[in-house]
Amino acid sequence: MSDIYKIFLMGPQGSGKGTQSERLSGHLGIPAFGMGQLLRDEVVTGSDFGNKLKNIMKLGDLVSDEDAAHVLKLRLEKADTKKGYILDGYPRNLAQYQAFNFDVPTHVLVIDIPRGESLKRLGGRLTCDHCGKVGSLNDGLKPGDEDSCGGVWYQREDDTPEAISHRLDIYEHDTAPVIEKYAPFVTHIEGVGSIDIVFHRILETLK
Ligand SMILES: [Zn+2]
Repeated sequence: MSDIYKIFLMGPQGSGKGTQSERLSGHLGIPAFGMGQLLRDEVVTGSDFGNKLKNIMKLGDLVSDEDAAHVLKLRLEKADTKKGYILDGYPRNLAQYQAFNFDVPTHVLVIDIPRGESLKRLGGRLTCDHCGKVGSLNDGLKPGDEDSCGGVWYQREDDTPEAISHRLDIYEHDTAPVIEKYAPFVTHIEGVGSIDIVFHRILETLK
């Protein structure tokens, strides 16, 4: 086992990447973060750069790849990343990969799940129109059912099979070249199975 882990976790929506990332963070004692969180954290600091990001996001514009990479650079300068870190879902396309030119991973773990499995996991998602809680058809909920808060469960437009398929297409198209660039560090992880089983597979690859 190496002493320093710089783990880039990749995988389509519904692959359980976020859950595994948190769990791995606890297990290895290193921080885990995704770009969305880093941007929000930078805004909260109230720095000049944070304010610039805030204004971009307020207008609904996308933060440039250079600005995003800069946020990541600032984060990697913090002391808690000395023993490594887990980067959740970034870079997810070639432009982001090119902007992120100041560090290399020790491991790139790609959690693979078949498209049908993604659709099954994500397509069952229901949201409460009152409290925003997320539930699942797989738990016996149906659209139109009432939540304990008094709200009603419904399926968001983002969670229709068409919308999910479209996002999976983008993931496959955009991340394939990134995975190719990182080829020497890449291990594919079979993502079908319980959270425990997938976590065990991940730990095996780190040995
Ligand atoms: Zn509710």
